[in-house]
Amino acid sequence: MKIPKSKKRYCKFCKKATEHKVSQVKSGSKRGTLKWGSIQRALKRSVPGTGNKNRWGSKPAKPKRTGAKTSKKTNIKYTCSVCKKSTLQKKGIRAKKVEQE
Ligand SMILES: [Zn+2]
Repeated sequence: MKIPKSKKRYCKFCKKATEHKVSQVKSGSKRGTLKWGSIQRALKRSVPGTGNKNRWGSKPAKPKRTGAKTSKKTNIKYTCSVCKKSTLQKKGIRAKKVEQE
């Protein structure tokens, strides 16, 4: 999947369409992927990586299912060239490889 370097997009801070710089968010600076409700559901189901992680007083989490998918969801950041504020894309698109033109 190829993504452009800049794109004209609506800026919710300027309240008009402006030029935006497109950049990828690296996994280190990525925000949590779950909404609050999803975290609560994950805790109830004891999904790996949530809650009391294998410590005393709780049952161990289920083993993690790995290697199920070969692609990753994109996480693209749009930075407005006028106000320099940035927004993240709403939904990631599955892609094996992401290239910036
Ligand atoms: Zn703006």
